[in-house]
Amino acid sequence: MSNDAPATLGAASDLAGAAASALTSLTGAQPDGVWSAPGRVNLIGEHTDYNDGLVLPFAIERRTWCALRTRDDRTVRVYSTFSDEVHELSLDAIEQAEFAGWSAYVFGVIWALHERGVDLAGRLGVDLAIASDVPTGAGLSSSAAIECAVATALNETWQLGLDSGALALACQRAENVAVGAPTGIMDQTASLRGAEGHAVLLDCQSLVSELVPLPLAREGLTLLVIDTHVTHAHATGGYGARRRSCEAGAEAMGVPSLRALTEDDLPAAQDALDDETFRRVRHVITENARVIETAEVLREHGPRAIGDLLLASHASMRDDFEISVPELDLAVETAMAHGAIGARMTGGGFGGSAIALIPVERLAEASDAVVAAFSEAGFTAPTTFTVTPSAGPRRDS
Ligand code: ADP
Ligand code: MG
Repeated sequence: MSNDAPATLGAASDLAGAAASALTSLTGAQPDGVWSAPGRVNLIGEHTDYNDGLVLPFAIERRTWCALRTRDDRTVRVYSTFSDEVHELSLDAIEQAEFAGWSAYVFGVIWALHERGVDLAGRLGVDLAIASDVPTGAGLSSSAAIECAVATALNETWQLGLDSGALALACQRAENVAVGAPTGIMDQTASLRGAEGHAVLLDCQSLVSELVPLPLAREGLTLLVIDTHVTHAHATGGYGARRRSCEAGAEAMGVPSLRALTEDDLPAAQDALDDETFRRVRHVITENARVIETAEVLREHGPRAIGDLLLASHASMRDDFEISVPELDLAVETAMAHGAIGARMTGGGFGGSAIALIPVERLAEASDAVVAAFSEAGFTAPTTFTVTPSAGPRRDS
């Protein structure tokens, strides 16, 4: 067993235990069970989801645990170690409830299950306790991890028999409506369908997904995440503006979404669109092609061969989609100068994290070099950590 294995297993059981003991403090009794679901990183496929396109994320070893105990009334209570608060709602009030704060991610899942046809009428309430090692707001989708952990726990406890596709849609709906964040289906699908040593190739149009081998450890590789801690005030506005450009581009090209276009359509698009819209459209078209190629290259040649695709994705986001920032560019350039095989910004852009695919023996060098380069440039110190393609949801006890 490698040196890493006991540490990872130890951390996991501690947080399952933390969720269980938090529930015991709340209720004075043992949980019925503890379930967990992972966060995710997007390997490639950025701003393609809302264009009915393709994405290739993977579930990571950082997870959110949900301990559950059934009550004998209609109340749902939820506690999280993240905030030390208990929030409460009756199943009778869920339809009219106004959701606010972090518990919207939890109550929103129940609301969305109900909206999808789960009958709450005869059901007993539950006490829930949440513990997590997915950092919030770091681009690892702590929001999908908490939604999916709760949905998985309720699916089993209430014997709903919902598959991962139905659960993902309910979790997305919770985030879109109860929380009010206009996100796609990628994060929840990656969390619910992830598997150890694999990425999840998701077609956001058909919602069909398949697992693609991503055996980083076997190939002597690791994936470094560089969280720049940059959050731009215009991130939300920028995201909206990019969505509108994509819609305008599709409309001008006479297609329902940019997914309908391929690289063969680029000359016609250049003629039909203004320069900025054309470059936005070119990013989406070429990014979809890169996702397909990355999946093919992973299957045929393995992860050491995808570096150029990651770099091309970054260049496209920097130059065509214009969602990078100097910190992300510096992270990518510095990692590449210190042994990375490929690197790119990941997530919505205007800040957030970059990822770098690195041979294990160059990891410390690359990470140190990025930290030093940020200091030299006068940027806020980044946080760096590695992630491993890991298992989807499970029952832990
Ligand atoms: P990201 O998904 O990138 O981490 P989001 O803004 O989408 O960032 O989601 C973060 C929010 O999700 C937090 O501010 C909090 O409201 C909620 N959340 C995530 N994890 C937990 C947790 N363990 N306990 C309570 N709330 C959580
Ligand atoms: Mg999120």
